[in-house]
Amino acid sequence: MYLKGIELSGFKSFAKKSEFEFSSSISAIVGPNGSGKSNVAEAFRFVLGEQSMKSMRGKRGEDLIWGGSQATPRSNRALVKVTFDNTKKLLDLDFDEVEIERIVHRDGINEYKLNGSSVRLKDVVELLAGANIGSTGHHIISQGEADRILNANLRERREMIEDALGLKIFQYKKNESERKLDRTAENIKQVQSLRREIAPHLKFLKKQVDKLEKSKELRVELKEKLHEYLKREEVYLTFTEEDIASRKEGPKSKLETLEVELEKARKTLESASKEDIRGQEVLTIERELSGARSKRDELSREVGRIEGQVSFAERHGSTPTEASSVPMSELKAFESELDESFNEANKSDDPKAIRLAISKIKSAFTSLIEKYSKESVGTEAKEEVRALKEKKEALDTELSLIESHVDELSETYKNLQNEIETSKDEERGAEREVFRITTEKRELETGLRDMAREEEMLTRAREEFKQNLEEGAVLGGREVLDYSNFDIDHDSVVKESREIQDERRKTIEKIKIRLEEFGGGSGEEIMKEYREVVERDEFLEREIEDLERSAETLKQLISDLEERLGLQFREGIEKINKEFQHFFELLFGGGTAELSVIKQQKRKKRDTDIEISEEEIDESDETEEGIDIEVALPRKKIKGLEMLSGGERALTSISLLFAMSQVNPPPFLILDETDAALDEANSRKYSTMISELSEKTQLILITHNRETMSVAGILYGVTMGADGVSKLLSVKFEDAVRVTK
Ligand code: ATP
Repeated sequence: MYLKGIELSGFKSFAKKSEFEFSSSISAIVGPNGSGKSNVAEAFRFVLGEQSMKSMRGKRGEDLIWGGSQATPRSNRALVKVTFDNTKKLLDLDFDEVEIERIVHRDGINEYKLNGSSVRLKDVVELLAGANIGSTGHHIISQGEADRILNANLRERREMIEDALGLKIFQYKKNESERKLDRTAENIKQVQSLRREIAPHLKFLKKQVDKLEKSKELRVELKEKLHEYLKREEVYLTFTEEDIASRKEGPKSKLETLEVELEKARKTLESASKEDIRGQEVLTIERELSGARSKRDELSREVGRIEGQVSFAERHGSTPTEASSVPMSELKAFESELDESFNEANKSDDPKAIRLAISKIKSAFTSLIEKYSKESVGTEAKEEVRALKEKKEALDTELSLIESHVDELSETYKNLQNEIETSKDEERGAEREVFRITTEKRELETGLRDMAREEEMLTRAREEFKQNLEEGAVLGGREVLDYSNFDIDHDSVVKESREIQDERRKTIEKIKIRLEEFGGGSGEEIMKEYREVVERDEFLEREIEDLERSAETLKQLISDLEERLGLQFREGIEKINKEFQHFFELLFGGGTAELSVIKQQKRKKRDTDIEISEEEIDESDETEEGIDIEVALPRKKIKGLEMLSGGERALTSISLLFAMSQVNPPPFLILDETDAALDEANSRKYSTMISELSEKTQLILITHNRETMSVAGILYGVTMGADGVSKLLSVKFEDAVRVTK
């Protein structure tokens, strides 16, 4: 026994709280027409989550609530509570007793409770499906609905059978999974669109970050290159400065020396060019000398004349006689002698030679005259000779004096000439010296000017060095300033060509330009934003992966469920067919009955949240399996459900219903006047079947049938008073039989 009892309060005609206890495996509810028996069956439907108003004979939720009468005011809500014995854990809850409660309010709001706690309809449906108490209500057969399964379409039939076979839970799970799959696909789309939305921003940030990274690399490169360049430059500059300074020293001191030398040479030159004074002296001496010479020559001539006079006087006496005639030949000889002497004198500049020529001429004369004159010997003459000789002696003395004066002057003149010559040599020497010194000086000065130019270049290089250092520190960071730690061999720096260093400088310039293009700053904010967006993107990516994985899992689950459903459904149909045939034969005394699975166009339930509403159905392109029923009555040619009589339809329905219950017994079965159309013989067969069935399934039977009542362990009578309120009373079989009559 699973069903312990049901409580109705404000539900339809049960205005007051009424409780049924189903302590027997077969309970029968009896009572006159219209007393409210079917309302009890509907109370079961209601509490088990029925959403179709039609199957509860109402239009709105309000129709389920006690409407009120003169004596009893209307209720605000309808409450039905069903109690299950759960010691066998039929329901998947860790309670020995489970109460399911549903309340509907006048505003249409529904409440569901599980052991007093509010739950959702879904929770109730799931719980019951797990216990083979499906929502299609195959276990609640309403009045006049015994042949519902025969009237149902192929798809509904399939659903009913699935439900009866306990496959509803798989179907339910499958539907759930399909819904989840749809939601997952929707989520994937949403997340993909979110990802697409951030993609351009991410791309933009990535570009920025790439730039930042590139400029970071460039800064490192710049720093390294600058370290080497600056170190080399400094070594070079320092070395070159020192080198120039030391190279300058020699020429500078040399220049000083040259300056002194030049001064000296100039002075020498100055003193050597005092020629004028000497020239004067030379002229004076020349004049004096010429005077002295004339005097000497005059004296010589006087001496000669006196000598002539002396010799004449000595040879001719004191008085000269008549002159003797001179032969022509003698004269001619004399003439040639004179010519010779004149020629000699003419030819020579030498005063001595001239003097000699003159004295030759004089002696020629003297000898000619002596040859042709008569000597005078007389006293007078002797006196004259003596006087002449004295005079001659005086003149000789004077002559020798004047001659020595001439010699002296000649000496002085000669010395002066020598002196002038020497002085001229000195002047030339000084001039050469001045030339040499100025040339040398010019060379040195040129050299120094070159060095000064070099120094200027160095100064510029220094400035450039500083500028490089400052700019480098701005672009490459303060670490650039640590260039002096760069290890380098000084010699190699000095030996290296400047062109190589210049190449380095150019490379550095290029890096600087590129760095400036990238723009400065560390881009902390961009980096941060980039990291955040990347994180978000990665998160979304993972989300998509997760969703895709769960979609895969869901697809797998759906296909597994479909497979399982398909298999169990076919197996179930086979089993049902066996029982169906058995019960059919039993009731009809022969014939055949069979369910067959056929394919048909699929119809899809619309997903709707409205709890109490008509099911809406859409056509679909897919195909699905439906169930057809084929029967053949014994001794009759008719086949097909349409040709059956009302009673035959009831019997067929009952056969199928019992077959289904036999294969997969539901915990309970409520049959509302299913036996109404049975004749007496069939009623007996029916009650036997009921007894059989009750071994597996608890039965609640609403009946007017005596046979049926006879197999019930407990009987409830439902009556309705003048106030329209259904009342409940426990009755005995005899009373029950009486009540029904
Ligand atoms: P029968 O033996 O003829 O099938 P029954 O015992 O099954 O009859 P029900 O159909 O269960 O009778 O009861 C119908 C009665 O319930 C009617 O009299 C109807 O007026 C009453 N009823 C239905 N809904 C309400 C409601 N909301 N408020 C009051 N009375 C209601």
